[in-house]
Amino acid sequence: MQFRDLSKQYACLKTQIDCAIQDVLLSSNFISGGPVKKLEKVLADYVGVKHCITCANGTDALTIALKAWNIGKGDAVFVPDFTFFSSGECPAGLGATPIFVDVDSSTYNMDPEQLEVAVQNILAEGRLTPKVVVAVDLFGLPANYEKIKKVCDKYSLFLLEDGAQGFGGEFKGKKACSFGDISTTSFFPAKPLGCYGDGGAIFTDNGSWADLIRSLCVHGKDTSNPNDPNSKYNNLRIGFNSRLDSIQAAVLLQKFESFKSNELHDINRVAKWYRECFIAEEISDVELPCIDNDFYSSWAQYTVQVPSYVNRSELQKKLKELGIPTNVYYMKPMHLQGAFSGTRSETADCPITERLCSSVLSLPIDPFKTKDEVAYVVSSIKEFLKNN
Ligand SMILES: *Cc1c(COP(=O)(O)O)cnc(C)c1O
Repeated sequence: MQFRDLSKQYACLKTQIDCAIQDVLLSSNFISGGPVKKLEKVLADYVGVKHCITCANGTDALTIALKAWNIGKGDAVFVPDFTFFSSGECPAGLGATPIFVDVDSSTYNMDPEQLEVAVQNILAEGRLTPKVVVAVDLFGLPANYEKIKKVCDKYSLFLLEDGAQGFGGEFKGKKACSFGDISTTSFFPAKPLGCYGDGGAIFTDNGSWADLIRSLCVHGKDTSNPNDPNSKYNNLRIGFNSRLDSIQAAVLLQKFESFKSNELHDINRVAKWYRECFIAEEISDVELPCIDNDFYSSWAQYTVQVPSYVNRSELQKKLKELGIPTNVYYMKPMHLQGAFSGTRSETADCPITERLCSSVLSLPIDPFKTKDEVAYVVSSIKEFLKNN
């Protein structure tokens, strides 16, 4: 069994994807070609925002969004303590100080009450200026944007949605990547909508930010006259070289069709099977992911919490022997990463994250898993719990 089976997906879409790649090869338009423009339109429409700007990866997407707001030294950027490194790496890379906020133990997402506490602490210290909240849609589930937005409005903070794992998710009928003043996603192969290499995108309703982002993605070029071929060599600001290749866009256009029409639905069915199997096997010690009524997850991961009496690495070893790959997302709270040692970022009070880092376990999931495979994973876990 694969953790996330990308080869099954390719087998299903081989004809379309091969043709789409071939078309790009024949066009010889490898950078910013037709498929890139088409993809940006299609994704903006799906998410329900005015502008989508593709870029090289989800990390660049975060950095460029922060750069568009001129975030840097002296600024505090609030980031969940339980997330992939990029969410905190990007503000720090621009000279800002990531302030890590504890998460909710059942959704794994930023705790809006802890966010307000963190903002008040920074204001009381008086050394940094609170500027941005980076809210992450962890494991496919959108954060609680109603509550987070309230805190942002109260303290005049920008909201940046890190939807790298969240594409396809929903909250109150609105799609992930539409909640931030700017939102970002990643097309890394194992993300909910992945390409065959690196890729990313930035979403916003704000036209002037969109123009600025387009400029930043291509060496700070002049975007005032997009039809002038020479504007590329008129550089108005220091930018980046961060673009999505035409081949990746062509692959994504094909994969997006089946993502929309069946994969998102199918992966939700697999998640439901997991819950049903854990209940049928009467495994009550393992805490299952919890999706509240107003939410819809795109299941970037299916992450459970094992009870504290279980030796998690022994369980992983046993499952591996049985042909079941698992992963621990994440092993370490952000504030304890060596990269932040000795900085203000290190001093965070995040007991929930610390507990999660020692108890979470991500199980194999993708739209192609069968009910039998899910039952096998769950009964193997039960067997281990019984003998330990
Ligand atoms: C994967 C990921 C990123 C970075 O995306 P890349 O395309 O790998 O650069 C950022 N934030 C989160 C939460 C992620 O999971």
